[in-house]
Amino acid sequence: MDKMTLNRMEFFAYHGVYAEENKLGQHYYVDLELLLPLSRAGFGDELTETINYAELYARVRTIVVERTFRLIEALAEHIAQDLLGFYPELQEVLVRVTKPHPPFEIHFAGVSVEIRRSRPVEVYVGLGSNLGERHELLAEAIRLLSEHPRIKLLRQSRLYETEPVGFVEQGKFLNQAAAFATDLPPEELLVELQRVENRLGRVRDKRWGPRTVDLDLLLYGQVELRLPRLTVPHPRLAERAFVLVPLAEIATDDAVPGLSSLSARIEAMPARNEVVPWTR
Ligand code: ATP
Ligand code: MG
Ligand code: MG
Repeated sequence: MDKMTLNRMEFFAYHGVYAEENKLGQHYYVDLELLLPLSRAGFGDELTETINYAELYARVRTIVVERTFRLIEALAEHIAQDLLGFYPELQEVLVRVTKPHPPFEIHFAGVSVEIRRSRPVEVYVGLGSNLGERHELLAEAIRLLSEHPRIKLLRQSRLYETEPVGFVEQGKFLNQAAAFATDLPPEELLVELQRVENRLGRVRDKRWGPRTVDLDLLLYGQVELRLPRLTVPHPRLAERAFVLVPLAEIATDDAVPGLSSLSARIEAMPARNEVVPWTR
């Protein structure tokens, strides 16, 4: 992706936790790295095809000078979210905020925070539980995930009751799918899914054995990824009626990466009849 950089925009403003900072004010530097396509502007030589950096400067200035935050972390976050919201062509932004001269008797070359934020993508999570109060565990998993400031629940499917697959001497499963918007990169999202699994008492002993909650990342936007700890789309997605049926209920598009048609795939699976909506 192409990049535009704005180096060391300089402002005088009043952020800070300490009273002196709000009274005396101090200098702030803001650096930006914007990832966006620039070839249309390159070929067309038209300002309307790119981000006008005078306008960009004015937006950042308004936030830095007219707002007050206690933390430069909050200032940086606010700038990043404002720019992603305002410029649809912007794919990712890096914001660095520096206080070059904190008003203390200390000698160091200032303090900075640097954050990288991207446009949220739609992701699908497959949930399963066959131990304990299954429906409560699934609801709790969705609630805990949505508590994360960078994960927002979009939709959730009904609950389905399904027969165990693989290791069959265990209780029936409840399965569900949920769609979230997140700007976490795929591996960080997986870490969050595992954190919630652990919090809800997941013990990993037997492969495909009983579990309080299993949270699998089914789809991450249109991304296809093969890492040692993460494969997306989920590698066994297309073989599992208990995953596809809830997923199809909430998917906005019948085509998903690696599967031209969810509905056609489900139609071809005899096991779809064993995936039945669950009611208490
Ligand atoms: P299955 O993946 O067949 O549904 P499982 O969900 O029971 O089996 P887990 O014990 O939950 O398997 O996870 C085993 C490992 O799978 C995890 O440690 C994780 O690193 C890896 N993994 C790879 N791709 C994914 C994915 N898309 N979602 C979740 N975990 C994944
Ligand atoms: Mg699983
Ligand atoms: Mg899993």
